[in-house]
Amino acid sequence: MNTTRRARPWNFSAGPAALPEAVLHEAAADMLDWHGSGLGVMEMSHRGREFGSIRDAAEADLRELMSLPPEFKLLFMQGGGLAENAIVPMNLMARSDTRTADFVVTGTWSEKSCHEAARYGRANLAASSQDRGFRGLVPPVQWRLSDRPSYVHVCTNETIHGVEYGELPDLRGLGCDAPLVADISSHIASRALDWSRIGLAFAGAQKNIGPAGLTLVIVREDLLGHALPVCPSAFDYRTVAESGSMYNTPPTWGIYVAGLVFRWLLQQTHGGLRGLAAVEARNIEKAALLYDAIDRSSYYSNPVDAGARSRMNVPFFLADPAREGDFLEAARANGLLQLKGHKALGGLRASIYNAMPLDGVKALVDFMHDFETRHA
Ligand SMILES: *Cc1c(COP(=O)(O)O)cnc(C)c1O
Repeated sequence: MNTTRRARPWNFSAGPAALPEAVLHEAAADMLDWHGSGLGVMEMSHRGREFGSIRDAAEADLRELMSLPPEFKLLFMQGGGLAENAIVPMNLMARSDTRTADFVVTGTWSEKSCHEAARYGRANLAASSQDRGFRGLVPPVQWRLSDRPSYVHVCTNETIHGVEYGELPDLRGLGCDAPLVADISSHIASRALDWSRIGLAFAGAQKNIGPAGLTLVIVREDLLGHALPVCPSAFDYRTVAESGSMYNTPPTWGIYVAGLVFRWLLQQTHGGLRGLAAVEARNIEKAALLYDAIDRSSYYSNPVDAGARSRMNVPFFLADPAREGDFLEAARANGLLQLKGHKALGGLRASIYNAMPLDGVKALVDFMHDFETRHA
């Protein structure tokens, strides 16, 4: 058993999830007095000079990190991924007179998106992997897209089922010129994205980039201005974009912490790589280590197709499910926290987001091997 324990345990929560330790230290140091202003960030006017500089730096750093082209607006909003399931159709459904959005359902999150959108127009189920227990993706050539949809929705990383797109679908290649809407909540800033294939991407911050309460929306300019009359002003992307996300008070603390995370990510290095390339290389290494350990063992299993396995969320099962309670208890005693699987799927799940170092995954793999030796 691994007896060397560090000060903080390793946190495998799916979200709200671990933040980089360096970011937590910096936020703690700034708590009472940000950069000599005499104010904590939570106490500042969102329209003041100090917060303006925090906001601008967060935006500039995320744009650089994700190589965001200038025709995309970055919006700081609230309501999380589930609110976007309504806000997206309220903004985009009227783009096409068909008032139909197409959905590719590959797990719980895209299923929820499809269900919610039906309140604002037609939701066409273009493809689903439900008949296979959401164990993989549906190849885009098999999608049954509707005629001139308002948009096509995918969830590019299904946090519960552990299914991730390795490559974004090319809608134009499929003969569809509708914008692709991507729920990137649980893998934002973990890998490079091909923006030429995306119309809009959204993400709650609490999985990979910050505290709960902040939602990022990245939207191509030409998609603004189609909101339904029922859309609240504070959720009309055009209003939010035109006011620089200051139409109403934005989640200032969340923007500040996310900004610290963006800077931390930009500063990452790995071999000769920097920034997102370094972060992605490390994520590939971490995921390979964990999936290898699972695949080599006959005690642990992961059911997802090899080409669709998530680098961020790894659900796994014990050969003897009755031992899950023992596994979680022993893991906790070894400084490995929040490994319980989502209730929809059962089993166990390790979320290994950007903030999880390779050492944390090594500690988990060592523990798993030990547990197996004692119980298999
Ligand atoms: C967590 C999650 C959501 C829901 O986020 P909330 O902030 O709880 O609304 C939506 N989509 C994905 C992919 C998620 O992981």
